[in-house]
Amino acid sequence: VSSRTAGPEILRLIDLLAKLPGLGPRSARRAALHLLKKPDQLLNQLAAALADAADKVVACSICANFDTVNPCSICSAPGRDASIICAVEEVGDLWAMERSGVFRGRYHVVGGTLSALDGIGPDQLNISKLVERAGSGEVREVILALNATVDGQTTAHYITDRLSHLPVKVTRLAHGVPVGGELDHLDDGTIAAAMASRR
Ligand SMILES: [Zn+2]
Repeated sequence: VSSRTAGPEILRLIDLLAKLPGLGPRSARRAALHLLKKPDQLLNQLAAALADAADKVVACSICANFDTVNPCSICSAPGRDASIICAVEEVGDLWAMERSGVFRGRYHVVGGTLSALDGIGPDQLNISKLVERAGSGEVREVILALNATVDGQTTAHYITDRLSHLPVKVTRLAHGVPVGGELDHLDDGTIAAAMASRR
């Protein structure tokens, strides 16, 4: 597709689709065509859903989960145990934990992992806020449910260190999370087992 074969609106659509994870220029062209061929069932509805999400979704000021209310519905749910915080890398990991239904406490989305290679230090992550929450007095346990990658484990070590002066128990998901595994790829039973045998 070039500016001679398609208008700027179509080129812009393709360029933006190509920025999505897993989509390169070729699949972005296919996706754009697919949308344009189904204006009523797909394109218009997707446009409305995107506008709605852009308008209403915010990151929770306590835990950084995405929701349409702030604090998010998990942070404000009275039935959830405020004394246990489960720290995860991304909102997708929180979703995986929630799908498994094994955790009834609250979350903290760290926002990634420390990475010397990518120049990501503690200040680029949502860690100070976690330390602050853990020191508030109502928290007795922080579960580090970071992914079993090298960066994930480095980050877990760092957070454990930052929490060491506080009277909170710091636990980690036990084996069951395979090395290099990500929470989002695990089935519910595996997450439940890892949660039950945390140390
Ligand atoms: Zn929240």
